[in-house]
Amino acid sequence: MDRIYNSLVRGQNVLFEGACGTGKTLSALVPALEVAREQDKTVVITTNVHQQMRQFVAEARAITREESIRAVVFKGKSSMCHIDVGYEECQALRDNTRALVEAESDHAQLEQRQRDLLAESQAGSESAADARAAVMDELENLEEQIDDLEEANVCDHYRNNLLDTEATDEFFGWLFEDVRTPDEIYEYADQRELCGYELLKEGLEGVDLVVCNYHHLLDPMIREQFFRWLGRDPDDVIAVFDEAHNVEDAARDHASRECSERTFDSALDELAETEDPRTDDAANVLEAFRDALVETYEDSFGFGQRESVGDNWEDVPISNENRRDDLTLAFLQAYSGQGIEGDLEAARKLGQHLDEKYEEAYREGETATRTECQTLEAAAFVAAWMDEGTDQGLYPVVSVRRDAGTDEVYGQAELYSCLPRHVTGQLFEAVSGTVLMSATIQPFEVTENVLGLEECVTMAYGLQFPEDRRRTYAVETPALFASARDDPDVQAAVEEAIYDAVRMTPGNTLAFFPNYGEAARYAERLESRTDATVYLDEPGVGAEELRQQFVADEHAVCCTSLWGTLAEGVSFDGDDAHTVLVVGVPYPHLDDRAEAVQEAYDVAFEGTDTGWRYAVEIPTVRKTRQALGRVIRSPEDVGVRALLDRRYSRRAKSDLGTYSVNGTFPHEEREELLDLDPEKLKFAMMNFYGDHDRYAGEPPAP
Ligand code: SF4
Repeated sequence: MDRIYNSLVRGQNVLFEGACGTGKTLSALVPALEVAREQDKTVVITTNVHQQMRQFVAEARAITREESIRAVVFKGKSSMCHIDVGYEECQALRDNTRALVEAESDHAQLEQRQRDLLAESQAGSESAADARAAVMDELENLEEQIDDLEEANVCDHYRNNLLDTEATDEFFGWLFEDVRTPDEIYEYADQRELCGYELLKEGLEGVDLVVCNYHHLLDPMIREQFFRWLGRDPDDVIAVFDEAHNVEDAARDHASRECSERTFDSALDELAETEDPRTDDAANVLEAFRDALVETYEDSFGFGQRESVGDNWEDVPISNENRRDDLTLAFLQAYSGQGIEGDLEAARKLGQHLDEKYEEAYREGETATRTECQTLEAAAFVAAWMDEGTDQGLYPVVSVRRDAGTDEVYGQAELYSCLPRHVTGQLFEAVSGTVLMSATIQPFEVTENVLGLEECVTMAYGLQFPEDRRRTYAVETPALFASARDDPDVQAAVEEAIYDAVRMTPGNTLAFFPNYGEAARYAERLESRTDATVYLDEPGVGAEELRQQFVADEHAVCCTSLWGTLAEGVSFDGDDAHTVLVVGVPYPHLDDRAEAVQEAYDVAFEGTDTGWRYAVEIPTVRKTRQALGRVIRSPEDVGVRALLDRRYSRRAKSDLGTYSVNGTFPHEEREELLDLDPEKLKFAMMNFYGDHDRYAGEPPAP
């Protein structure tokens, strides 16, 4: 804590790796809050893992019992609006409501003035009579204004926020009595017909601690507003990121931009209904892009591929060696007109004009919802596609999906951002200091490079629990290269090791595979020989339900994908599971985006194979380490963690060369990793669990 405190005092960034159960959250929060108190700053702690949010609330509550701090848990409007409207609509509703409330207040004041003047004129004052006549005129005008506003759209919840000061004072009293969850706030506000979200925004100003989601800090637009609500400059904020190994992917998503074929269709419909000299130019350029998009994905389909497009977005290949992508080429081919730039400018200007009109119509109650201008959105996207599509770190993508309702296949264009530091670099530079914590954030220099962090202080703490209560094995089963997965000998050897591990475990075993297909393959093979119950996690299966059935069992194995939902943020405490297996080195399937990230990293970072190492190998090993951390969650837990693939072993390092991943594990974990012949796994496990008296009776015969 002292090191974190000193680093934050100096305005540095901290990379903090601590195994599960090492109390990372408190170790970061306590010194961060101390610095914030001394330097009048606000601590913002963020996560993208739902379960962690609950954990933060518990930690924040514990801190508020000891220290008088004001802590708020903040969530996006979409889940907190009481009348389910979007961002733009809410904005217009609030403007109208505020105008109405102000007009009513002015009316009440004038009404009082009018009464006073009446009394004075009845007492004989002529000047009062004249003044009253003027006030009556003003009142008449105001009444008309109020009638208009009442007919327009207003939000009653927000109106009560503005009018019922007694209720809002009570709300803030209640809010800061404890750390309230967004659900509690919603319920409290709903019962009193207030808007909890807007009150919470007001309540943010000057608080000591905010718990929120990644996007409040990673999305550049949301971040700007968020800091405004806090009443803080970025420099007054200490940012703490939990599960920080996820920041890389999350930042990439926040930096990417997309526009669907539907948006282009709506823009063209919008333009067809608009009378304006700019409509032809705008429609010309947007139609050419839309047609090029359709042509691009249609041309990419091989025989039967169109029919097999599913509900989720699937990328189609569009990249070309040494020239622009297929969509841009098709667009340039399809476009004929005075000039793309000029037409896009016309589209953008017209879009802005339409957008202002929609805003006005909504405010005045002419429309029940706030229309969003599709022309503006489509034009801005095409301009970005043409101007930035070849920028380093941006990768143009086309994807398709099937509308489950209409069965139609439609496409989307996306400028995928490969380099997360485009988003994170600015953030880390702007805030006062940052703590990035995770159980798997090493190698530190890679995290620093990828996220654009400077002046970092790094610290790592391994599992603090007694070492003799766990074993970590690198079992030298054959390397499960993708090309070897169908090899019967490899399958038999891998199956045997899994079977031994399950059999020798006095309780449940969690087995992670490179994908759901491999999980299903070995689950089926195990079914026929083990007396343990075999649970198979499949995509689309409720993971929590499966987890509950599994942990309720006494001798079971759960086969799942390392890239599924059970590998992270889900704990298996105590007797929930004793052994965890990671089968193979579970490299993800490398699609074009992943290749683009690798290429971008190769260019952006010095060194050999940085693309592969930074973008594939290191994230895979981090994920593997996350999976290993699902068991042994307290000092009392006893368990075995086994990596089944010789690429993990120290012994095989020299003959496997660059295929070995042993060196990618942090030093302290490598030290714990014991190389083991597959035939010896059952003996090693029997001895280990036997020594800890874990078998109910005699251990199984090896
Ligand atoms: S003010 Fe609150 S309740 Fe009203 S529209 Fe906005 S978020 Fe929804």
